[in-house]
Amino acid sequence: MFEKILIANRGEIALRIQRACREMGIKTVVVHSEADREAKYVKLADESVCIGPAPSALSYLSMPAIISAAEVTDAQAIHPGYGFLSENADFAERVEQSGFVFIGPRAESIRMMGDKVSAKHAMIKAGVPCVPGSEGALPDDPKTIVQIARKVGYPVIIKAAGGGGGRGMRVVHTEAALLNAVTMTKAEAGAAFGNPEVYMEKFLENPRHVEIQILADEHKNAIWLGERDCSMQRRHQKVIEEAPAPGIPRKIIEKIGNRCAEACRKLGYRGAGTFEFLYENEEFYFIEMNTRVQVEHPVTEMITGVDIVQEQIRIAFGEKLRYRQTDIELKGHSIECRINAEDPFKFTPSPGRIVSWHAPGGPGIRVDSHAYAGYFVPPNYDSMIGKVISYGATREQAIKRMQIALSEMVVEGIQTNIPLHRELMIDARFIEGGTNIHYLEQKLADKPDLPKDAKAGKK
Ligand code: ADP
Repeated sequence: MFEKILIANRGEIALRIQRACREMGIKTVVVHSEADREAKYVKLADESVCIGPAPSALSYLSMPAIISAAEVTDAQAIHPGYGFLSENADFAERVEQSGFVFIGPRAESIRMMGDKVSAKHAMIKAGVPCVPGSEGALPDDPKTIVQIARKVGYPVIIKAAGGGGGRGMRVVHTEAALLNAVTMTKAEAGAAFGNPEVYMEKFLENPRHVEIQILADEHKNAIWLGERDCSMQRRHQKVIEEAPAPGIPRKIIEKIGNRCAEACRKLGYRGAGTFEFLYENEEFYFIEMNTRVQVEHPVTEMITGVDIVQEQIRIAFGEKLRYRQTDIELKGHSIECRINAEDPFKFTPSPGRIVSWHAPGGPGIRVDSHAYAGYFVPPNYDSMIGKVISYGATREQAIKRMQIALSEMVVEGIQTNIPLHRELMIDARFIEGGTNIHYLEQKLADKPDLPKDAKAGKK
C-alpha cells in the first residue's frame, strides 16, 4: 500500500481523506493556502505545505505548486477530493507524468465525462438511457436550432458542454426566447468554462435527481453501491441527500444500477464515480457522470458499510475490488444535511469567526466537518462548513435522529443554514418522501415572510 498520500484539497473533505488514510496506516501531506494555515486538519496531518495565497487560482488550482509539494515531501499519490482539480484531466495527466499516482480515473475517462456532450455519446453507446435532446453540440445555424427545439418539444434546457456546479444552464419555454438563450448560454459558457459549446435537452418538468454510486477497478470489475436521492436542491445545488431513494421500486433501480456497472466495464472506467440521473414517471434519464468522490458519499457509506474513500485509494494502488455485487447489501436509511455558512433564507454567504460550535452526537449521527469554536471561515471558498449525516433502521428513524441532531447543534458567530434544515426536517412533503427537484425553490418562493429578493425560483 502507499506509504504517503498528498491531499490536494481543503475543508471537510481534506479531513475526511486524512481519516481514511490514518485508518489504513498511510501518512498524509496536506497542502493549504495562506487562508487555511490555521485549520485544524492542517495541524493534524503528518506534514503540511503552504502552496500559495488565499485565492484558489494561486493555490488549490495551481498544478505546479501541488506537484512540487508532492516532490518535496516524497508523497506517492495525490487525492484530489471534490471540486478544485478533481475533474481536471490535464491535472491527472500531469500528476502521472510527474511519477505520482492520481487517486481517480484515468485522464481520458475524466476528459470524456467532463465534456457532457461526449459523456452522453458514451452513455448512449453503453446502453444507459439519456434525456432526449440534440444529438451532440448545437450547430451555429439558427434555423437548425429552432428545428431541433421543435423536435425535442418545449420546454427545453440549454446546457454548457463544459458546465458544472449547477452553472451554465438556461430553461427556454417558447420559441421566441430560444435563440437569445442559446447565444447567452454560449457566451457564458465560453467565459466560465473556456468552452462555448452548448447542447439541448428536453426540460423535464417534475423529475427527481437520483444518482448511482459505482466503484470500478482496473481489472474490469465494477459494482454499484445503491442510489442516492438528491432532489432537495436550490439553484441546481444539492442541499439534502438521502439513501435509498424513497418510494422507487427496487426492480427499476436494480436495472439502472446494473446498467451503470456494465457501462463502467465497457468503458474501462477505473475509480469511484457517480452516474447522475433525472427520474420521472418510473424512467431514469442520464444527465452527467462525476468522476470523483462526491460531497454526499457518506449516505452511501452508512447504508452499505463500504468506505468509499478507502476503496478509491485501494483501486488507485491497483488492487482488485474487495466486494462483489452480491456482497453489497443496503441496510437502513441515511440522510445528509449540508451545513453552509450563509443566511438560512437569503443565502448570502456568512464567512467569519465561529465563536461557539457544538456538534451533535448520539446513536446514528455522523458529523463530517473541519470547523470548531474559534475557526475562521475564510471568504475565499465554498460556503459549506460541514455535513451532518444521520442513520436509522428506517427513514422515519433517520429523520427523527436528524431532527434531534439539528436541535442540538449550535453554531454562533456566523450565520448558517441550520434553521432551514430544521424546517425541512419537519416539512410534511419531505417527511412523506419523493419530492422533486423544484420542491425546495417552490417552498422558499411561497414563504410570505421573506423579502422578495430572497425568493428563488419563482417564475
Ligand atoms: P451540473 O454539472 O452543473 O451539476 P447537471 O447536468 O448535473 O449539471 O444538472 C444539475 C441539475 O440541473 C439537475 O440536478 C437538475 O436539477 C437540473 N437539470 C439538468 N438537466 C435538466 C433537464 N433536462 N430537465 C430538468 N432539470 C434539469
